[in-house]
Amino acid sequence: MGRQPDREARVVLAGRPNVGKSTLFNRISGARRAIVTPTPGTTRDVLRHAAEWLGAEFELVDTGGVYGASADPLQKAVAVQGAAALDAASVIVLVTDGRDGVVPADEQVAAHVRRTGRPVVLAVNKIDDRRAEARVEEFHRLAVSPVVPIAAEHGLGVGDLLDAVVARLPRGRGARAVEADAAPARGTADLAVAIIGRPNVGKSSLVNLLLREERVLVSEVAGTTRDTVDARFTWHGRGLRLVDTAGMRRPGRVARSGRIESVSLVMARRAVAEADVAVLVVDAAEGVARQDAAIAGEAEQAGCGIVIAANKWDLVKDRGPNYAKQFDGEVRAALRFAEFAPLLHISARTGERAPKLVARVVEVAAARARHVATGELNRFVERVTRRHPPVSPDRRNVRIKYAAQVGARPPTFVFFTNVATRFHFSYERYLRNRLRESFGFEGSPIRLRVRAGRDSREGGGRR
Ligand code: GDP
Ligand code: GDP
Repeated sequence: MGRQPDREARVVLAGRPNVGKSTLFNRISGARRAIVTPTPGTTRDVLRHAAEWLGAEFELVDTGGVYGASADPLQKAVAVQGAAALDAASVIVLVTDGRDGVVPADEQVAAHVRRTGRPVVLAVNKIDDRRAEARVEEFHRLAVSPVVPIAAEHGLGVGDLLDAVVARLPRGRGARAVEADAAPARGTADLAVAIIGRPNVGKSSLVNLLLREERVLVSEVAGTTRDTVDARFTWHGRGLRLVDTAGMRRPGRVARSGRIESVSLVMARRAVAEADVAVLVVDAAEGVARQDAAIAGEAEQAGCGIVIAANKWDLVKDRGPNYAKQFDGEVRAALRFAEFAPLLHISARTGERAPKLVARVVEVAAARARHVATGELNRFVERVTRRHPPVSPDRRNVRIKYAAQVGARPPTFVFFTNVATRFHFSYERYLRNRLRESFGFEGSPIRLRVRAGRDSREGGGRR
């Protein structure tokens, strides 16, 4: 899949002493060579070890005690070696200690690392500790993104960290730093898709079609919730997992009783909890109902990407050219929760536009995993607030000092403001729409949070 970086790929761990570089080095390389001790600066040598993640091979380098401020005569030699290692890096992992928050030494290392112009991933370590967990957002101040919380000692988050690293490794010729995770951040992991909707809209038919179309029903695997059944297939080399398809494989197995509505809601809730993207199937011949909106709401709340499939389009095709427009308008009005979701007209019976549906699902999953670099996001904030300054619910004026994307899947943004407040709902809507427009989050919910920001810029200066 072209994910193989060249053999010269070099991933360098940098950070002040005692943040956990050696521990991380050992965790990734499986080596036991670095000495881990609680005394700052005790890991002195620059260590190298071959490592591999999801088929991508690279050399892992620990800069050791480069940034230790010690009287050690070896220190100078190590610093020189370490600086050379940074300059030769394909990707730098800046390691910090979440328990301590951002300290001046982190800002110094960050400044140094940024000057190399190399792609950087910021690891906030020791989040097994509650104090660290609460401070992760603070690290966005270092103007390095993405920020990945980890606990090197326990292996927590290390997979996410390596996903981000590998996505930034050069791939053969024309190597470039990847700003946005346009590629699925989960690497080769399956994309989990929930097919949800009211009874009789054609969910089972769609599942059967997708599995038959591909003729590569790889396996039926047990879902992560007991008594669920997932079906797996590949599409252009990408693995997709249809979650919770029990009772769907054969059309008509779902009982059509009075209890049915709540049953489909419960099934949807269960499926979206596990899914990256939900395909909300609605009936093009019958139109949308209140139940469709409730089901869409489940997907939105779970933070799933959403694609709306208006199924049975074969039945309404000959209703004239205005029908599509009118129908789409009704869907949009009824499914306000999912206004960001692409809408497709499909037929599970004829197979029309089923490939397009899968393509959109994959695109939405990528959009949902996207990361906006901190610098770019703050230029965006300047631009949109100049046009429309934020307002709080009581219509006070608010100033956004700084913003950061603190998470993906779904994209989550924190806006640090001059006063503790919330934004007026119309302003949140404005921000979401502009974010979508500027960074292409089509089909993904966007989470916004507002925090009163302490002045975080003193001492260290970002860029
Ligand atoms: P280095 O100087 O940056 O190489 O840091 P080390 O890897 O030597 O780790 C410094 C200290 O932090 C050691 O006592 C480690 O056991 C501890 N440490 C490393 N990773 C974690 C973690 O994920 N959680 C906690 N709680 N402690 C960690
Ligand atoms: P589910 O309850 O949502 O799983 O719906 P089913 O897949 O069982 O489909 C309900 C009924 O709609 C069945 O009689 C299907 O044959 C029919 N159906 C499903 N998809 C289409 C379609 O694209 N066009 C037409 N005309 N009928 C469909």
